[in-house]
Amino acid sequence: MNPTSPNVTLVGIPFDESSSFLRGPAEAPPKIREALHSPSANLATEAGRDLGAEDRFRDAGDLQLPTGAAAFGAIERGVAELLESGDRLLILGGDHAITYPVVRAFAGRYDRLTILHLDAHPDLYDELEGDKLSHACPFARIMEANLASRLVQLGIRTMTPHQRDQAERFGVEVVTAADWPADVLASLEVPLYLSLDLDVLDPAFAPGLSHHEPGGVSVRDVLKVIQAIQVPIVGADIVEYNPVRDLNGVTAMVAAKCMKEVADRMLSC
Ligand code: MN
Ligand code: MN
Repeated sequence: MNPTSPNVTLVGIPFDESSSFLRGPAEAPPKIREALHSPSANLATEAGRDLGAEDRFRDAGDLQLPTGAAAFGAIERGVAELLESGDRLLILGGDHAITYPVVRAFAGRYDRLTILHLDAHPDLYDELEGDKLSHACPFARIMEANLASRLVQLGIRTMTPHQRDQAERFGVEVVTAADWPADVLASLEVPLYLSLDLDVLDPAFAPGLSHHEPGGVSVRDVLKVIQAIQVPIVGADIVEYNPVRDLNGVTAMVAAKCMKEVADRMLSC
């Protein structure tokens, strides 16, 4: 990979079988693409890069997945295959369960990943309702398998005693929504993987989510964090958009906006 001129490949992972509360995120990738290309907006990033004229920004479509537990292996293999090109990957979920097999694929290519994780929830449960692959568990699986050397969580506001124990056990650096913005960004190391659960946002900004957790941050707060990243982002996921709950597609536009700004960072450094 030439770090000065990476390509960015977009890929959808339409999977929501590990959602604990509602289904819907499997329908997200085409809705976010539709918002990205909506004639109501354009493909310019806030730094002035026109993604529509950018030949380093490509779309690989969606992974074709089997149902059930076999989907996890298929996600890992599909992502590993795409990583062979050396491209940065911009991944559209799907629920947050996809991040475990995705990061497994990244860990096979990159040593000592740093993960920056934006979420209302720490997603560190050892299991939820008997499911160790639940969307409430991916970062427990990632840390116990040593797939990342550092996990920094921002925006957390649902910490439970069990998950606090897990965070301590795994050495997770947790910054709550109350402490946002954080100065941890300056200390981020490469290779960096960004995992953006849209429910880090206040539901006022993003109603199209399965879990409405009040007290979240604004779209501008999230954009500021993305735009402040000055190190190479080798991969990113944007997860938990639930079109079934959306109002007038406003959350799809938020997802597309975040995606544009992540793509800009990936293409820039
Ligand atoms: Mn999550
Ligand atoms: Mn969440």
